[in-house]
Amino acid sequence: MSANLDGYEAVIGLEIHVQLRTRTKMFCGCELSFGDDPNVHTCPVCLAHPGSLPTLNEQAVRYGIQIGLALGCEIAPRSIFHRKNYFYPDNPKAYQISQYDIPLARNGRLGDVRIHRVHLEEDAAKLIHVGESGRIHGSDASLVDFNRGGTPLVEIVTEPDLRDAASAREWLQLLRSTIKAIGASDVNMEEGSLRCDANVSIRPAGSQELGTKTELKNMNSFRFLERGIEAELERQVALARAGEPIEQETLHFDPRTGTLTPLRSKEYAHDYRYFPEPDLVPLAPSKELLDEARASLPELPAQRLERYQSELGIPEAQAKLLAYDGELGDYFEAAVGAGTEASAKGLANWITGDLTARLREAAGEEGEVHAADSRVTPQAIAELVAMVEAKQVTAQAGREVLAKLVAEGGSPAEIVEREGLASISDSGELEGIVAAAIEADPDAAAKVREGNMKAIGPLVGYVMRETKGRADGGEVTRLIRKQLGLG
Ligand SMILES: [Zn+2]
Repeated sequence: MSANLDGYEAVIGLEIHVQLRTRTKMFCGCELSFGDDPNVHTCPVCLAHPGSLPTLNEQAVRYGIQIGLALGCEIAPRSIFHRKNYFYPDNPKAYQISQYDIPLARNGRLGDVRIHRVHLEEDAAKLIHVGESGRIHGSDASLVDFNRGGTPLVEIVTEPDLRDAASAREWLQLLRSTIKAIGASDVNMEEGSLRCDANVSIRPAGSQELGTKTELKNMNSFRFLERGIEAELERQVALARAGEPIEQETLHFDPRTGTLTPLRSKEYAHDYRYFPEPDLVPLAPSKELLDEARASLPELPAQRLERYQSELGIPEAQAKLLAYDGELGDYFEAAVGAGTEASAKGLANWITGDLTARLREAAGEEGEVHAADSRVTPQAIAELVAMVEAKQVTAQAGREVLAKLVAEGGSPAEIVEREGLASISDSGELEGIVAAAIEADPDAAAKVREGNMKAIGPLVGYVMRETKGRADGGEVTRLIRKQLGLG
């Protein structure tokens, strides 16, 4: 939840940079490849040699259009590239080719958040600060790796429609899964293929005006995004309460200390002197390209969410977990289609609940959870859920079977057989164990007989221990009451 804002309302907008997963760079034929030696993927264009000319990457345009369409935007019939001028070592041309007043796409919506614009641009080179170990002429040194320079980027700018940090995080997850479904990017925040800045301001609750905003830069995980926004909202509310002004500035969030430090104040704000890029013609996508981009869009997470809720009756929280994680959604659908009697609701419950918890446990603190890579096949989880729903095994025994499946894979029916986990179907056997429970704990039995139903716990516990969880809890309660003359 958001910080206690004490009469103020948060106004949050996001700016997202997405590295596109094309084969080559935005304006030259250099390969996009990560983890290679520095400066091996370079050419006169991306090193800005005089006389070299940019050529627009068609696949980057296609991805940009698909992202624009997936975000419900209008695609501009004719958008323009501009030069954004700034001087910095990561930028050999001394300008970045970007889009300015006429972007590729605008006026969209994803979930509850309106999209202001979507545009194409190129990434800067990577600076590596080697500090003292690389001192040159007595100064700390930085190295430049131009492999990343010229990587195609899509920038997405939202309207300031978010009202708390947790919603910002959840919305960014929806955006991430949407772009992932398209296949346009790896969208990995830790690796920098998805980067998010947040514009944050506050205003008196109910007001329609916008307060002075600060910009939070490059928070490189979903958790840090949420914590950074929380910290900034607290800072702004404290200033406002103390009657102090909020400065427009750019802030860096340090997740170790939870503090925000200014990067540059507005006095140093850049004047980028945008002007149209003379070496590129306006981008006017053909009807064929637009039709093809639209036709090749997969089912998107927002559509999946809607379908899971309306057609399969899955509760919203579980439906989000499945729809926003494409892999988990695919796994769930494979289980639904496995040809068993298991219900979709039951499968959603087991997959987002016990299975995910078990896999998380096995993966450890930092490990990623991928049901699809686990030993539990969609077929196996479907068979297990079908057995539980048919009361062939109890839910408790089902969880034991699941633990075995996670550890060693295999077939649920075989595990049930081998471990003797099938439900007790013989009511005579169960009656006998219930009678033994009552005999073993006459005090509890007396209390239950007097109407104190809380005292039934130890009796049920006895039966569960004796049957190793193979008895149905409802049935056990019914038999205890019956034998005590209450049924
Ligand atoms: Zn190049």
